[in-house]
Amino acid sequence: MADLGEPRNTIAVLQKYDFDFKKRFGQNFLIDTHVLEKIVAAAEITKDDVVLEIGPGIGTVTQYLCEAAKHVVTVEIDRTLIPVLTDTTLSMYDNVTIINNDILKTDIAEIVEKYNDGKPVKVVANLPYYITTPIIMTLLEKHVPVISMTLMVQEEVARRMQAGPGTKDYGALSLAVQYYATPYIAAFVPPNCFMPRPKVGSAVIKLTLHDEAPVKVDDPSLMFKVIKASFAQRRKTLQNGLTNSAELTVSKEEAAAAIIEMEKKCGLKENPLIRGEKLTLPQFAILSDEIGKLSANEDF
Ligand code: SAM
Repeated sequence: MADLGEPRNTIAVLQKYDFDFKKRFGQNFLIDTHVLEKIVAAAEITKDDVVLEIGPGIGTVTQYLCEAAKHVVTVEIDRTLIPVLTDTTLSMYDNVTIINNDILKTDIAEIVEKYNDGKPVKVVANLPYYITTPIIMTLLEKHVPVISMTLMVQEEVARRMQAGPGTKDYGALSLAVQYYATPYIAAFVPPNCFMPRPKVGSAVIKLTLHDEAPVKVDDPSLMFKVIKASFAQRRKTLQNGLTNSAELTVSKEEAAAAIIEMEKKCGLKENPLIRGEKLTLPQFAILSDEIGKLSANEDF
């Protein structure tokens, strides 16, 4: 089977199987050998690595991964692609396993156990854009043994993951991702590198997971509620965001007191009208600990 990074080879496979792209599965297949090489280089795959690929499509990225890795386990939701994948990858490589399943319903820990004796794997994917965030957050929050995730996502989502305090892209996603991993945008990829072309630009982002969380916080799930509340109404003050949240029970006075206490501990100017977008992850951790001390939130 020929290199699917070449558009003519992808077209030949699509014709052979009379394949219709399914919008509901976010199917935009890569047709650019340079981008494929960049993904594998960014992921730093070696012959010692077991790779988990999400959404192989017709097997384009999979072929490049099979060349570079010890073993590739690839999970595809669309059962009509399984015979295609068998043809484009299994017939060529003996280091690939194809699983027909929804990645959100797949027991990834079991895959890691079975194919890498429980040792951490590298995740690589040209993600379906309709469920990018749920896939990333599931992998991060479930603490699956993963070294890194090298992912093609919408450019705007990549920028949000990498953004720092005070920028327009900074928000709950930046903080959630950065609590678990260090993000690095490895490449920007224009729509003409895909078939069919997506409407927006894309980017390859690498998330390297932390060995240890970068901040200490009493209750990470409370911190994420505080973060969500702080960015839910971007134009409002942090105090209003916290008070208006359905997930927190905080009065205006309590919110102001917690904010002032956090500001004192962080050496910031005391200002109860500060906006959430100004706070760093360590500052959110301290704010969350202050809110956790309030009796009404003890049960969170
Ligand atoms: N990796 C291929 C490539 O780069 O050419 C295809 C990438 S395409 C953007 C996304 C792929 O993910 C599609 O093959 C789609 O069917 C698959 N997919 C969508 N939702 C999925 C899910 N929940 N679990 C597993 N695969 C999924």
